[in-house]
Amino acid sequence: MNEFDLIKRYFQSGGLTPPVADGVELGIGDDCALLYPSVDRLLAVSMDTLVADVHFPAQGDPALIGERALRVNLSDLAACGARPRWFTLALTLPEMDKGWLASFSQGLLRVARQYDIHLVGGDTTKGPLSISVQVHGEVEPKLALRRDRASAGELIYVSGTLGDAAAAVKRFHGEVQTDEESANYFLERYYRPQPRVQEAQALAPLLTAAIDISDGLIADLGHICERSSVGATVNLDRLPLSAPLIRSFDEKDAVQLAAGGGDDYELCMFVPQTAQKQFEDTAASLGMPVSLVGSSSARHQGVKALFRGEPTELDSTGYQHF
Ligand code: ADP
Ligand code: MG
Repeated sequence: MNEFDLIKRYFQSGGLTPPVADGVELGIGDDCALLYPSVDRLLAVSMDTLVADVHFPAQGDPALIGERALRVNLSDLAACGARPRWFTLALTLPEMDKGWLASFSQGLLRVARQYDIHLVGGDTTKGPLSISVQVHGEVEPKLALRRDRASAGELIYVSGTLGDAAAAVKRFHGEVQTDEESANYFLERYYRPQPRVQEAQALAPLLTAAIDISDGLIADLGHICERSSVGATVNLDRLPLSAPLIRSFDEKDAVQLAAGGGDDYELCMFVPQTAQKQFEDTAASLGMPVSLVGSSSARHQGVKALFRGEPTELDSTGYQHF
């Protein structure tokens, strides 16, 4: 099987990638995809690369790796309040492993269907296992969520629970023993993060800024503070922790994972006080749990962490590649 057969078999045929999709004049198979962007929308473009044994265990379930590759990219679209449209896939594979490819493409394209985003092209090369996805979404110019629009005196919320994916990574490294139910929960949270795509689009009119939590709350919140020139105070005792996290770690480690651990792909959102009730009501109607974890301030720069009112230092602030 050569490269072209591979693309046809796993990414194009079998009804996995519909030949006709909304806004697609030409998809996989030509030199370029030809797309119809909507009028009066900004194109939101983002790319994330997943390297084996850095971003996922090389021996992991290929279907879950495929899911994760697209889910983490969709999370960036969510963080901008964008509606997913199209994506491209650059695959570097050490060998032509048909079983691996079949599962990987099934996992990837299952998520694509769920979020109504269409694979329109890519690139396939030989080398150490690495997966790059580039997503294209669309957003109304006024509703695009950015990191540089937060102000002092706003409320800081996060969605879902934090620290679960970081707990999975601790388990990969054999640094923690957990009961089986917790272990399965952490793995699910790591491999199948739920990008808050619909929720972010619905909440966008009520937010001034948002970011998805990929590197850890404190680090990612720091990006908003820096870009918006505001300070933030986070009450670590208010961070939303899952029951398995509380069960598996002592309090200090659980809070540390929730504040510093990445990979949860939940949203961190800035809400003006005047929009608080509407924000909470809308989130509830969407079935998305949200927690008020802090506020922004003009009195200092950067992120301050408090635990039961006392200033606290954290062990690490975000994953650094270099
Ligand atoms: P070119 O030589 O013009 O760069 P390629 O031979 O790399 O094109 O790819 C042929 C077609 O298959 C193109 O339409 C490309 O977008 C698509 N393609 C290549 N690899 C992938 C992939 N991993 N997933 C989806 N489409 C792919
Ligand atoms: Mg070409």
